[in-house]
Amino acid sequence: MSLSDTIESLRPRIEPIAAQCAAASARLIAVVKRQPPERIKAAYALGVRDFAHSYVQEALDQQDLWAHMPEARWHFIGRIQSNKTRHLREGWHRIHSVDRLKTARRLGSASVLVQVRLGGEHSKAGVDPADLRETIERIAAETSVQIRGLMALPPPRERWGDLQPFETLARLRDELQATNHLMPDAGELSMGTSGDYVEALGAGATWVRIGSALLGARQETT
Ligand SMILES: *Cc1c(COP(=O)(O)O)cnc(C)c1O
Repeated sequence: MSLSDTIESLRPRIEPIAAQCAAASARLIAVVKRQPPERIKAAYALGVRDFAHSYVQEALDQQDLWAHMPEARWHFIGRIQSNKTRHLREGWHRIHSVDRLKTARRLGSASVLVQVRLGGEHSKAGVDPADLRETIERIAAETSVQIRGLMALPPPRERWGDLQPFETLARLRDELQATNHLMPDAGELSMGTSGDYVEALGAGATWVRIGSALLGARQETT
């Protein structure tokens, strides 16, 4: 498909979601993992300016794209492997997935969000809410990263039960700001994906991370 065909095929997906985010004063991040470069370029042509990678190697392989998207801001949202941290120190607008002091130490003065584990066993990534205060204290005291707020990737909506993940993350942010663990300018909330971004916007997301609903199904891994 030519770029202009790709733009026209993605326009009906991207424009309404971008408008919903703008109406809620949230920033839309297009999650580009395993997406073909034409779709990423098409999203840029349609006005998307924030893009997120989940894999360092994929980001490195696509560096030529970055040059064609001068106004783009790049975000990292995947698991942080310690042998890859040197690639995450510079060039990224936000690293959303910091959940350990050890990795924070290796990220230089990057702007980061602390990932919170909501919904128990679903994901191993993220700091447990009970440990959040101490983890943030130590990252602030012992590293040079700039903490900008909190991030979460809850289980799929049909498994929430009584869990209200986005309200919970907003409340944790409010509590941490009230006790000065998070500064007034560190109130960002990165939450909401294709399946639940409407709920996340309703609960005050400042960043939503949307992949398939925006760009179409991802390519299968082999
Ligand atoms: C893949 C991914 C997303 C986007 O998921 P979709 O369901 O495609 O919208 C958002 N956040 C994280 C952390 C992801 O890994």
